[in-house]
Amino acid sequence: MIDTATIRIEKTAQSRINELDETNIPFGQLYSDHMFMADYVNGEWKDLRITPYQNISISPANTTLHYAITIFEGLKAYRNEAGEIIIFRPQANAQRLNISAERMCIPEVPEDLFMDALTELIKLDSSWVPSAPNTSLYIRPFVFGTDEYIGIRPSQNFRFMIITCPVGAYYSKPVNVKIETKFSRAFEGGTGFAKAGGNYAASLYPARLAQQQGFDQLIWTDGKTHEYVEESGTMNLVFIIDGKLMTAPTSGTILKGITRDSVLTIAKEWGIEVIEKPLAVKEIVEAAKAGRLQEAFGVGTAATIAPIGKIGFEDETFELPSPENWTISKRILDELNAIRTGKKEDTHGWTYKV
Ligand SMILES: *Cc1c(COP(=O)(O)O)cnc(C)c1O
Repeated sequence: MIDTATIRIEKTAQSRINELDETNIPFGQLYSDHMFMADYVNGEWKDLRITPYQNISISPANTTLHYAITIFEGLKAYRNEAGEIIIFRPQANAQRLNISAERMCIPEVPEDLFMDALTELIKLDSSWVPSAPNTSLYIRPFVFGTDEYIGIRPSQNFRFMIITCPVGAYYSKPVNVKIETKFSRAFEGGTGFAKAGGNYAASLYPARLAQQQGFDQLIWTDGKTHEYVEESGTMNLVFIIDGKLMTAPTSGTILKGITRDSVLTIAKEWGIEVIEKPLAVKEIVEAAKAGRLQEAFGVGTAATIAPIGKIGFEDETFELPSPENWTISKRILDELNAIRTGKKEDTHGWTYKV
């Protein structure tokens, strides 16, 4: 056990909470008053501390600046109807952080350390957890190498940090996505299953090209044949075809989303047929053409459920039925929101009260 008393707390002298307008929260621009830090030195996590949110100083020879030895997580804290603060499945994030860590030669962050750091930070910045509908506090834990060394080797020193920022509804309208058949996000044996910084850096150029063609995001396909749908930039993908819920199996190339897992769990409990199998682009396109693709949506912490409006493939674009009439994704979203806000009993042990 990590003794929380070992987390040193330095409170801000000047809270910035009055800068927060819950009715209009710009994404990722306003950070809460405090942040958590710990340093990995000589094989041990040390100097656990919460300080005012501030810039940090690193060497120009910092190994992460050059070689992207960095991983992250993303999760959210919500305010329930009783005004209490609920974090959704944080232990799953702690576990996934360590799956990413192993792949990048980053030391494990003990789950106790992760949970205690998270709990203490959110307690201290509890006033930053908004309560307006569709708002939450986004939590970003991350670990990066801190060696001052420009040779290529695993880092020996690391920092674990947590910063948080209040967020509003992520996407306001359905997203238009392009099925990417030239560039790849991931491939067998690569790092697709890890939330490793470099994956996202490499996705920006193909995403920019798609944006120049009028799309919001990409649907990545498998790196080998580009014939199978994998996932989107920061969301797993779910398709409803003929009333069945279909999604690609998570593998070495697809990130194992916690939202995806929650959505599949709920759908199965309701008796919806859930099919996890490699999803051929052809199958999706044919279903769209025949009007059998009833719903398609991204699932991830940021948006929870992001309805897809149009799918572009080669020279064609397929429009989906208007999301206002979708039933399955709406019902699942309502259920997840009800669990988070305490309107419905949490029978899965998904909510963690701060
Ligand atoms: C974070 C992420 C997801 C979604 O994971 P959640 O745990 O549901 O937030 C899906 N795909 C990628 C590539 C991601 O980075």
